[in-house]
Amino acid sequence: MAALAVGWSVSGLPANRSGLLRQTAMLVAIGIAPDLDLLIGRHSMETHSVGAAVIVASIAAWQRWPVASSRLMIWVAVALVWMSHPLLDALGSDTSVPIGVMAFWPLSDANVQTGWEVFGPISRRYWRDDFLAINLRSVSTEILILAPILAVVRAVRLRKVGDCEIGK
Ligand SMILES: [Zn+2]
Repeated sequence: MAALAVGWSVSGLPANRSGLLRQTAMLVAIGIAPDLDLLIGRHSMETHSVGAAVIVASIAAWQRWPVASSRLMIWVAVALVWMSHPLLDALGSDTSVPIGVMAFWPLSDANVQTGWEVFGPISRRYWRDDFLAINLRSVSTEILILAPILAVVRAVRLRKVGDCEIGK
């Protein structure tokens, strides 16, 4: 939802429904992608950084990923959507070492955390009795905070193009 809120804020509305679906799927995938680092055992490290955002945004602009109409806006959208992920992680409760995200890599390999804990922890310890309760609480909080923001972004975006039929 955060990826969509950020992406939809900066990207134009595609001309048709299939373009909108492609853009939406791509923004969501970009927003989730930093956590693919779980597969290689380097969670919350290089992929959760400004450096990774710049690299992915540059590839996206070069390959013209279908998130915006110009290369510049593709780069801006992808960089911001990618960075929304570590930002939200840094606003969450982190109980797994390393605490925080390597947000400023490659300039610094320090893990940073805001300490605000707006979002609850997400547990991957599925064998524990409290696994479901912890994650349900955290996901509910995320939906309560992000859904209204996404709804406002969507409404403003649709208003900008007047009587556009897309998204209705
Ligand atoms: Zn993450």
